[in-house]
Amino acid sequence: MQIAPGIHSMGQDKGGRVHAFLLDDGNGLTLIDTLYDDDGNVVLSQIEQMGRTPADVKHIILTHAHKSHLGGLAALKKASGATVCAHSWEVDIIAGRRKATPVSKIPKRPFAVLHLQLGLALGLGKHAPCEVDHRIKSGDRIGPLEVVETPGHTPGSLSFWWPERRALFVGDVVATWPELAAGWPGLTLDNQQNLRSVQQLTDFGNAEILGVGHGEPITGDAAARVREVAR
Ligand SMILES: [Zn+2]
Ligand SMILES: [Zn+2]
Repeated sequence: MQIAPGIHSMGQDKGGRVHAFLLDDGNGLTLIDTLYDDDGNVVLSQIEQMGRTPADVKHIILTHAHKSHLGGLAALKKASGATVCAHSWEVDIIAGRRKATPVSKIPKRPFAVLHLQLGLALGLGKHAPCEVDHRIKSGDRIGPLEVVETPGHTPGSLSFWWPERRALFVGDVVATWPELAAGWPGLTLDNQQNLRSVQQLTDFGNAEILGVGHGEPITGDAAARVREVAR
């Protein structure tokens, strides 16, 4: 679904209403995260609906290495030949050489995501491993996006800013499902650090659009909602 010129949102009920974003800046396509299913079909059908082909995807960038966001990665890299980009801390998890850091088993709100918390606590679930081509950090530019390091949910969590579209993509730093919040505390490795990252994102004071990893994107005056979460 197109939520703004050149910004397409894709979602799945699985993986906690997980979302990914396909961006068209007029040159090529940039994909942020890859949803839950390991065949990448939701993304491939979005590319087809846009009248494009997988080879038009130039970059696949990952907000972080949790399973809900890595499902289609290996299949989509193979189909597109795109360059895969992530923060260096996340690379070995994406490549299958290290497990995602477990979280506590003690139940935390929101309880709607308790099954995901327990899955991460117990190290359940696997994604198809995929090598990362580029390690990215704050200040880098990938396609139309500027990279912003926003650690806390995981040490290598990244956000992305598209200045021309005033669009911010923040992965699991902020969630909009089941309610607007500074991520999901039970699945976040360092909640204090994550809140500082949300506060840092208030620097994008003219943001209109906010794409999050779980829940629907915000499509108007996103900066005000980020300030709300940062308090
Ligand atoms: Zn996550
Ligand atoms: Zn997630």
